[in-house]
Amino acid sequence: MRCPFCGHDDTQVKDSRPHEDGAAIRRRRICGSCGQRFTTIERVQLRDLVVIKADARRVPFERDKLARSVKVALRKRPVDAERIERIVTGLVRRLEAMGETDISSRDIGRLVMETLREIDSVAYIRFASVHWDFRETKDFADILATISTAGPGGSSDDFPPSGPKDKD
Ligand SMILES: [Zn+2]
Repeated sequence: MRCPFCGHDDTQVKDSRPHEDGAAIRRRRICGSCGQRFTTIERVQLRDLVVIKADARRVPFERDKLARSVKVALRKRPVDAERIERIVTGLVRRLEAMGETDISSRDIGRLVMETLREIDSVAYIRFASVHWDFRETKDFADILATISTAGPGGSSDDFPPSGPKDKD
């Protein structure tokens, strides 16, 4: 692999280890020319996917783009980086398993939403509000309806019911 710092063609693998529970391999590399170190992550790719955008443009599917949007949705939520990578890998496997090379960005968005809904409702709403095309307000109402089943909780008035303290 070419060095990303100096462009030299000869880089050496110093260390390889399983990553994401063995779904990937992480390799530490060193450049024989400039001595810079960098990491590559090797993943299985079952199929080259093409994304059909809303404006009908076709662009190659990029795992990193999908990962970024999932990470943004889960920012500061109680889901660690390792789990996010596994979630993204799971999403990619499901997209690859759909059997079609061309996948609409809308279908990808729907799949991500379905997945996030089961993981974290805040992330789900964030993702939906950014990526879903809310042409009809009903769509958004439907989304809210799917997460409002838990109800507002109502534990805020568990204030100690210590009656009126009359101190004469
Ligand atoms: Zn180099």
